Amino acid sequence: MGAVPRVAHIFALAGVLSVSTCVCRSESLPSREKTLVVFLTSDFSVAPAASSEIKQELGHIFQAAAIHVKWQDPATDRSDSENDYAAVVRLRGSCRPPEPGPRFEHSISGPFTLASSAVANGVILPFGDIDCAALNSFLGPSLWKESDQTREFIYARAVARLIAHELYHVIGQTHDHARGGVAEPSFTVAELLSDHFEFTEPALSAEVLARIADG
Ligand SMILES: [Zn+2]
Repeated sequence: MGAVPRVAHIFALAGVLSVSTCVCRSESLPSREKTLVVFLTSDFSVAPAASSEIKQELGHIFQAAAIHVKWQDPATDRSDSENDYAAVVRLRGSCRPPEPGPRFEHSISGPFTLASSAVANGVILPFGDIDCAALNSFLGPSLWKESDQTREFIYARAVARLIAHELYHVIGQTHDHARGGVAEPSFTVAELLSDHFEFTEPALSAEVLARIADG
């Protein structure tokens, strides 16, 4: 996030395809929910409540794109499960809300690169990386006065939104961004903290997914 220029190709692309698919590509549209398997790894253990909130939020975000998210722990679960997409997501650093402290009394100036995905020869690889130290600096000033429980809940939800952004790049195989929502190029604190933050445009619409599947 952040380094890629703000463009809106996804938005335009979806608009065009929704017309043409009616004529000649209707059979290639996915007729079922797709499955995305996420292998979640973390440098430090993540509290069960936080982990469950991350999964719940991510499931909710991708539900809108008709994608079912399945979770696997790469350390314990080596079974092959059928999927349309698979990705490894690493929570780098200590992914828990920062302890209240004076360093968060004032906002810390960025810019922050909160998350990224591996790219080789222009191809986006299915390896997402969430930088929790950057996230802590970014959200710390807004969270430190909240109760422990609230902080943990909001923090986990923010982590899920960052993961969703990187998975959007991986699934969509695109460097482009949308104008708003989870697929936009940079997030504000308000967006990460808000009650609702989702894909606001058909960033992962059936038309786009069908196009990817068709190569
Ligand atoms: Zn991005």
